[in-house]
Amino acid sequence: MPMQYPIKLNLAQTPTPLQLLSRYSQRFGNTRIWVKRDDLTGAATSGNKIRKLEFTLAEAQQQGCDTLITCGGLQSNHCRSTALLGAQLGLKVHLILRGPMETQSDGNLLLDQISGAKISVYNAKFYAKNLSKLLQQWQQHYAQQQRKAMIIPTGASDGIGVWGYVAAAQELKSDFHQHQLQPQHIVFATGSGGTQAGLTAGNALHDLNCKVWGVNVCDDETYFQHKVKQDLIDWQQRYVDLLPTDFDINSLDINILDGHVGPGYAKAEPEVFATISELAQTEGVILDPVYSGKAFLGMVKEIQHGKLAGAKDIIFIHTGGLFGLYAQKQQLSEHLTTLEMTQG
Ligand SMILES: *Cc1c(COP(=O)(O)O)cnc(C)c1O
Repeated sequence: MPMQYPIKLNLAQTPTPLQLLSRYSQRFGNTRIWVKRDDLTGAATSGNKIRKLEFTLAEAQQQGCDTLITCGGLQSNHCRSTALLGAQLGLKVHLILRGPMETQSDGNLLLDQISGAKISVYNAKFYAKNLSKLLQQWQQHYAQQQRKAMIIPTGASDGIGVWGYVAAAQELKSDFHQHQLQPQHIVFATGSGGTQAGLTAGNALHDLNCKVWGVNVCDDETYFQHKVKQDLIDWQQRYVDLLPTDFDINSLDINILDGHVGPGYAKAEPEVFATISELAQTEGVILDPVYSGKAFLGMVKEIQHGKLAGAKDIIFIHTGGLFGLYAQKQQLSEHLTTLEMTQG
């Protein structure tokens, strides 16, 4: 189906590679895992958020915005991508981050600071209660300075951001063609729902014939059923003119692999760190403890005895997150076995 897109900027390094995990997959017998390397969409700007921001930031420019306000956890990959892309485009960026503050900046936060973004950290309770008010107050603050600020929601997950992974689904279509593949499943970490909304719609629009699964890294299945649906509704309402007339978002299956959150958002069990370490050692691919590592482990468990059992080919979308690993290096260090230091 030929697809019309709204305006976008070319910011991401795409197409990203589709890489077969030939050694890691041997443990499963007949299941092969392929990794879509969206951790390679840029260097410091890398990950899944840049695909959405290509559309979001085009819209910001079109609206004449000179400032971006967005929000997330202290180690938000989305905030880091926005901070750097804002700098690249000459826009002021203000990040509203959920505390508590780190004693020494690391990972994403360090890059936020280098990018020159203005950063406001609020304690977690206050943030949860007052986020939308805070965003609006800062927007008004900039209006008083004759600046026009766009508020980008958490993870750039709204109707605009959905396009990022509708377009990525089209890229996957040509990957499948090139590798002569018809995978059964597409699996990835879901956190604010926009990647899942985009892939769910894109899977149908581009006839990928896959089952699209988000592994939730926070909240639960009910929450994500609702959130992904909301993003799809917002997308449909904003872009009625671009979507095929016979396309109905109510016919889309929203599939969640729940049960892999572990101790909580951004808190990973030792098994996740062991998986990160193992994949790095067998394939040279680095996952992160907050998103991709948790989702990858969830996928492995579902292949071994769960909803993905018996599949021949599975696509894992590596959504990035490398810098988040640095903020948790303490937890990782126990799983590093090869370190040997010699004095001399
Ligand atoms: C944000 C993020 C996700 C989740 O994507 P959403 O579109 O927010 O659901 C997954 N992986 C990484 C590394 C992320 O930064």
